[in-house]
Amino acid sequence: MSLVVFQMIEKVYLKLSARRKSMAHPEVGKSNKRMSSVMKPPEFQAKKNKLGEASQPNNKFYEMIQEFRETLEINPLSAADLVEPHRICVCVRKRPLNKQEIAKKEIDVVSVTGGGELLVHEPKQKVDLTKYLDNQLFRFDYSFDETSTNDLVYRFTAKPLVQSIFEGGMATCFAYGQTGSGKTHTMGGDFHGRQQNTNSGIYALAAKDVFTHQSHRRYAHLDVSVYVSFFEIYNGKVFDLLNKKSKLRVLEDDRQQVQVVGLKEVCVENAEDVVRIVQAGSACRTSSQTLANANSSRSHAILQIVLRCNDRASTLHGKFSLVDLAGNERGTNVGNDRNTLVETCEINRSLLALKECIRSLGMNSEHIPFRMSTLTKVLRDSFIGENSKTCMIAMVAPGMASCEYTMNTLRYADSVYDAVTQVAELE
Ligand code: ADP
Ligand code: MG
Repeated sequence: MSLVVFQMIEKVYLKLSARRKSMAHPEVGKSNKRMSSVMKPPEFQAKKNKLGEASQPNNKFYEMIQEFRETLEINPLSAADLVEPHRICVCVRKRPLNKQEIAKKEIDVVSVTGGGELLVHEPKQKVDLTKYLDNQLFRFDYSFDETSTNDLVYRFTAKPLVQSIFEGGMATCFAYGQTGSGKTHTMGGDFHGRQQNTNSGIYALAAKDVFTHQSHRRYAHLDVSVYVSFFEIYNGKVFDLLNKKSKLRVLEDDRQQVQVVGLKEVCVENAEDVVRIVQAGSACRTSSQTLANANSSRSHAILQIVLRCNDRASTLHGKFSLVDLAGNERGTNVGNDRNTLVETCEINRSLLALKECIRSLGMNSEHIPFRMSTLTKVLRDSFIGENSKTCMIAMVAPGMASCEYTMNTLRYADSVYDAVTQVAELE
C-alpha cells in the first residue's frame, strides 16, 4: 500500500478518534492493514468473473478494489439495530449499479462497511502510470448499502422526527447528492420504469406515521389537523406545485417571520390523501411548460406536512419539511450560456447556505445565516430553537465515473457531521 494511502488512513483515524462515538476499528491507523478479520461477501465473488474480464478497461482497478474488499469486515445495518436519538443526523446511502452501468462494465468504487462507515476506493495513477487506489474512509451516523430498502432508510432517518412535530417541533429531512444518485427514489418512492411507487417513499412513509401519531391517545389532547403544501424552488424563486406552478413571493416581517405568500395548504385526512397530492405535485413538477428548461434536477422540491391547532387562528403546532434537493453537480459544472450560469450560482449558493445553517444549528450559534438563499429563508424555522431536528441523507452513486461527485457529496456531508460532532463532544 502506498505511503499516500497510509498517511490518509492515519489522518482519517485521527479525525475519527476525535468523534462522538469511538467506533473506529482498533486496527485502523495502527498498521496499513486496516481491518483485521477477513470476510468475503458472496456477491463480490459472484460478480468477479462477470465484471472482471480482461476486456474491461479498468480491470486492474477492479482487481485492486476486490482485493481490498476481501480485507474488510462488513456489518450491514439491519432493522433490528438500535435507532439512536439525534438532533442532527447525517447519513449516507449508496445506490446499486444500474443496468446501463453494468452493461458499460462500470466498476463499483464504494464499499459500505456498516457502523456508519463507508469507503471510497478512488482509482488514481502516478506519473509513471502505476495504478493505485486512494482508499478514503468516511463516517456518519448511519451508512446504508445498495441492498437497503426505503423502509430501512426511513426507519433510521425521518421516522424518529415524526414524534418531534407532535411535540411542537420543526423537523427537516434533506436528500442531498448528484443527479441520478437516488434522491427522488428515496423521498418520492422507487421507480418501476418511468412509474414511481409513491407509497414506498419517505414522503408517504412519514405521512402514514403522522396519522398514526395523530390517532394515538398520547396526542389525543392536541386537537390538531394535518395540512400539506408542496413547492419547488428554482433559480431562487418559489413555485407552488399544488397550484399550477404559480410563482409565489417570499416575505419577511419585522419579527423575522418568513412567509411564502399565497402558498396552498391542503387539509388531509389520511396518508392516501398525501400520496395523491405528492403524485399530482410531482407530475406538475416534471411536465410544466412554464419553465421549459428547468427539469427537476435543477430545483429543490419541498413537501411540508404541517400540524395546525383547530383554533380560530389555526396556530402552527409543528412542521415536517421533506426536501429533495437540486443535483449538487450543478454547483461544480459551469456551463457557457447565461441561464446555466445563473442556475449554477443559485444552486451553489443555496447548498452552501444550507450547510452553513445546519452547521450553525449544530453549533447552537446565535447567528443563523438563513438570508443567504431562498431555500434557507423558507426553511428558517427549521434552523432555530431547541425543538428543531434535522436529518441529511447524502446519496451516492457507486460507479467510478461518479467518483469525483461522490467525493464532493461526502465532503459536504462530512463538514456538516463535523460541526455537529464537535459540539457533542464539548457538551
Ligand atoms: P436523483 O433524484 O438523485 O436524480 P433518482 O432518484 O431519480 O435520482 O434515481 C436515479 C435512478 O436510479 C432511478 O431510476 C432510480 O430508480 C434508481 N435508483 C436510485 N436509488 C436506488 C436504489 N437505492 N435502489 C435501486 N434503484 C435506485
Ligand atoms: Mg430527482
